[in-house]
Amino acid sequence: MKIRLATMTAILLSIVSIGITHAETIEDEALQWLTEFIGVDTVNPPGNESRAVAFYGGLLDREGIPWDSAESSPGRGNIWARLEGGDEPALILIQHTDVVPADADYWDSDPMKATERDGYLYGRGVLDMKGTGISQFATFVALKRSARSLNRDVVFVATADEEAGGAYGAGWLVKHRPEIFQGAGYLLNEGGSGTPVGDTTVFSVEVTQKVPVWFRLTAIGVPGHGSMPRAENAVNTLMDGIAAIRNNPFPIRVIAPMDAYFKGLARSMEGEQKARYMNMAGALRDVAAQRKLQEESASHHALTRDTCTVTRLSASNKINTVPPVAWAEMDCRMLPDRPSADLVADINALLEGTGVSAEVLMAFTPAVSATNTVLFDAIRRITSERHPGSYVIPGVTTGFTDSHFFRDLGITSYGFDPLVMPSEDEAGFHGNNERLNIGAWKRGVSDTRAIVEMVVYD
Ligand SMILES: [Zn+2]
Repeated sequence: MKIRLATMTAILLSIVSIGITHAETIEDEALQWLTEFIGVDTVNPPGNESRAVAFYGGLLDREGIPWDSAESSPGRGNIWARLEGGDEPALILIQHTDVVPADADYWDSDPMKATERDGYLYGRGVLDMKGTGISQFATFVALKRSARSLNRDVVFVATADEEAGGAYGAGWLVKHRPEIFQGAGYLLNEGGSGTPVGDTTVFSVEVTQKVPVWFRLTAIGVPGHGSMPRAENAVNTLMDGIAAIRNNPFPIRVIAPMDAYFKGLARSMEGEQKARYMNMAGALRDVAAQRKLQEESASHHALTRDTCTVTRLSASNKINTVPPVAWAEMDCRMLPDRPSADLVADINALLEGTGVSAEVLMAFTPAVSATNTVLFDAIRRITSERHPGSYVIPGVTTGFTDSHFFRDLGITSYGFDPLVMPSEDEAGFHGNNERLNIGAWKRGVSDTRAIVEMVVYD
């Protein structure tokens, strides 16, 4: 009974204090925004990102910042706002507001409600990427409140649909609202962060990605009864085509941005591993070493060559029927140093004579963002000042984010949030019990602001 009374008193006191106190710092305020934002259901599919537009619109109204929005389709809202500054190329802070589904059965708390526990905030999207989004937003608000003149425009953009490829979000805006991106030189998006390695921190700024080129492979044959096989069989033809691709893996090519990344990682390695990462091209000359790397790190291995993975297969729906058509879908990821048409030509050459045809379902344009820029310098300066002993490496990823849309426009785009996160927390991306260390995140909010201020103030 005593305990219950004490608990009730504590609850009452906390209710009172929420009512009367104002958040002391922008980081505290940001945490309140993030807590609220996690509860805004933007699970994609279906998305419902117009709820995020209402959320941000309300906050922007309170700050007296004009904003605009557009739906690419009912419920698929996108929002943007601009702080006007001088003539330097504009800086865009971009985020996607959708999140992937979460199965509450596998979580320790409701994924659609921000829950604080042991210094962590749990909820779907705290990492991918509502946490980064609010961090960017806090910077945007701080710039407005300070009323200091900016040397360039700063644009806040929150888009729909990244988790399903961005056709209703970033891709749609680029096509239908190109004015948002006009005059932009730099863009900050998701993709890189800080990782503690030994007693130091490595900050990875994502500058390029493997380029997806997705295919459908089709074989056509003579249908019939499974008991009377003919020489012509769509399933066999398809398997021959797939075998031709599988048996001829693309050669190892350690291109410059990947080499820079491996060398950056090598700084925190030791001995034989360090030597290998310092000279990845040399180390991978023999096949056994290639296989070893693939076992150690499938993602690092994937950064050393073009890859093709067959992920979908379809043939007959009946065991005793030879189908007229068999097809497969294949997820190829190309190193970003040649046009996707070259990879398509390679695939067609491999399939020649097999009877399998390849249709391109989707292909992006390769692009790498340069690192000799004011934004990269600011990231380096602020992280080294605030995280002594840390260093920055230009990162690369095997997956893709919305950044490719903007690299295609010639905008230098970095995937970066200065949040320092132990690599075990990465399991939360699209996983169960997605969580964010609150202290580290607040520090990241403050670091993001310092980086942006260094770029936008003279
Ligand atoms: Zn994301």
